[in-house]
Amino acid sequence: MHLRIEFSYNFAIMNNNDLEQLLQDHGIKATANRLIILKALMNSSRPITMQDLTDEIESIDKSNVFRTLSTFREHGLVHVIEACDEGVMYELYRSDSNGPHNDIHPHFHCVVCHKVFCLKGVTVPKLNYPEGFDILEGSFLVNGICPECKA
Ligand SMILES: [Zn+2]
Ligand SMILES: [Zn+2]
Repeated sequence: MHLRIEFSYNFAIMNNNDLEQLLQDHGIKATANRLIILKALMNSSRPITMQDLTDEIESIDKSNVFRTLSTFREHGLVHVIEACDEGVMYELYRSDSNGPHNDIHPHFHCVVCHKVFCLKGVTVPKLNYPEGFDILEGSFLVNGICPECKA
């Protein structure tokens, strides 16, 4: 399992060079397709499915998108959220105020519009796992109705 590397980026102002650097820092060779997929992930404020990605990037075929996402995941650049009916969703690890790569936040799945939201600023409690169980990755997902659907 990949060990996460600590980096600090300002994700709001990244140009192509920064994106290439981000890939390289994660041990990923920058290719044109990878940069396009990285940009799409970066522009999304919510976790997205592979279908969302392939709809958005028509120039890259599905298998290529899938391979790229797997590579990103292997290298600790994206993490995966398994959101019940919506299937697997992908999200970029971003730095937040807690420090680089300290991007552990719960997710909210709306049962009406089927969107998954990042609940940034909500702290996931530190759980005491039984001895001998090493946690590598995890996600915290709640189901409910989002403010927009409630209105
Ligand atoms: Zn909703
Ligand atoms: Zn998230």
